[in-house]
Amino acid sequence: MNTSSSAWQQALNEGFSDLHSLCQHLQIDPQQLPLLDNFRQFPLKVPRQFVDCMEPGNPDDPLLRQILPLQQELLTYPGYHDDPVGDLNAVAAAGVIHKYHGRILLITTGACAVHCRYCFRRNFPYGEQQLSTQKQQQALAFIQQHQEISEVILSGGDPLLLNDSKLGQLITDLSGIAHLKRIRIHSRVPVVLPSRITPELLDLLTARDKKIILVLHSNHANELSDLVASACLALQQRQISLLNQSVLLRAVNDDAESLRQLSEKLFSLGVLPYYLHQLDQARGTAHFAVDDATASHLITELRSTLPGYLVPKLVREQAGAAYKLNLC
Ligand code: SF4
Repeated sequence: MNTSSSAWQQALNEGFSDLHSLCQHLQIDPQQLPLLDNFRQFPLKVPRQFVDCMEPGNPDDPLLRQILPLQQELLTYPGYHDDPVGDLNAVAAAGVIHKYHGRILLITTGACAVHCRYCFRRNFPYGEQQLSTQKQQQALAFIQQHQEISEVILSGGDPLLLNDSKLGQLITDLSGIAHLKRIRIHSRVPVVLPSRITPELLDLLTARDKKIILVLHSNHANELSDLVASACLALQQRQISLLNQSVLLRAVNDDAESLRQLSEKLFSLGVLPYYLHQLDQARGTAHFAVDDATASHLITELRSTLPGYLVPKLVREQAGAAYKLNLC
């Protein structure tokens, strides 16, 4: 019999990694699309729980577009490169990125449950930068030595893909650092693989006294299924604060109605829309870009139809800047 832990790992293993199987499952003719097959550097990867939210027969489905490797990814554009937000210049110790005052980010793993084609870290050298057991000790020592750090951000990859034992140990170790106030987790897992939110995970996240903030990553209301709603409810019941960040993506969510529905749906699940990111210019992602004037106009439209707390901040991360830039 499956334990809840092995059930989510099995669900992860049963996701799609073959384009033609995915197209067949969704009743889409692969000839309709300029697909990029067998792209080894960043292959197709998507859990069935996310595919279940897509509309069969629709090659333009906004969720499908986020995960479908297309030939446009091979085109090169000025300004698009492998380290668009200056992560490598901000490496303070192996696996530790230090950009903003009082906060550091840990690259906990290179693994993700889904491969988002627009990802800013799609070309990141995880092999050198993710935390191994030894590097984790060095990262903890770095935090110990820097009393001004009050918040640690667990990132990746996706930190919720760590197994319970590794994640539990990391939370325990961080909780032993007296000057840390908060542990923030950035994850797309509750949205694309909600079965990962197990009772065991909830126990390990809340076993210590640090405040836990979970920043979800959802880009479209169609992603927020009943399973995702149940996961969010379980997280809230354990006093975990839930925020969401989205990326503004052409032909996915670049219209006011899609963004409005996303904010409304998030709030109904107890999640505050927090950031709407302009695309980071990673090589292979230019076909998702939306220009700043259009982005600002969308926010103006949202302001005219939503209360202020449901309008996300439109921001861009700029390499070397001390904070994210507000665009309107
Ligand atoms: S889950 Fe996050 S880190 Fe992973 S591919 Fe998607 S955007 Fe990138």
